[in-house]
Amino acid sequence: MTNKSYEEAIVSLQNLLSKNPELFDKLKKGQEPKFLVFACSDSRVSPSIVLNFQPGEAFMVRNIANMVPPYDKLRYSGTGAAIEYAVLHLKVENILVIGHSTCGGIKALMSLPQDGSESTEFIENWVKIGLPAKAKVLAEHPNISFEEQCKYCEKEAVNVSLANLLTYPFVRDGLVNKTLALKGGYYDFIKGEFKLWGLHFGLSHPCSI
Ligand SMILES: [Zn+2]
Repeated sequence: MTNKSYEEAIVSLQNLLSKNPELFDKLKKGQEPKFLVFACSDSRVSPSIVLNFQPGEAFMVRNIANMVPPYDKLRYSGTGAAIEYAVLHLKVENILVIGHSTCGGIKALMSLPQDGSESTEFIENWVKIGLPAKAKVLAEHPNISFEEQCKYCEKEAVNVSLANLLTYPFVRDGLVNKTLALKGGYYDFIKGEFKLWGLHFGLSHPCSI
């Protein structure tokens, strides 16, 4: 942004505030979002624009390739804190993980060298969260082009993230108690489509002895 466009952004914010006094009076008192949304940091896929979330409607986490890492207090405390706060304190009712077309993070995942070597400081280590998705795509679609494999992986990585969400005890509790629903989404801005799907696997009930 140039200084000029910063000024335009501030004017636009002032317009938004003055046109919605009731909404912003409500937001001053607190937030009650119904959604926790995971989306890629990619500049083309802002959930506020794509799904028209208004201020106060969605608590968001954006990172490279919209990954939800598994529960790990040491490696992934930033993501864990966001999930804990959204689920236990804000009591969101939905967690939505959105993948997207031509994702650079997924391309990095699919391009990881077989020997495990890394040439980046953080990126490759981060996208390795999606390795189970890559393995599934390579096993099921070994003979299609790299671009097509990336497309499958963009969706499979969302399923890996949904599975990883189940490693957080408070997310599992929310599903068992039916206070929480998990959904995957895929935004294809080449075709202009948005697809939505539910969790693909059931929860096993705890055994009683
Ligand atoms: Zn992306």
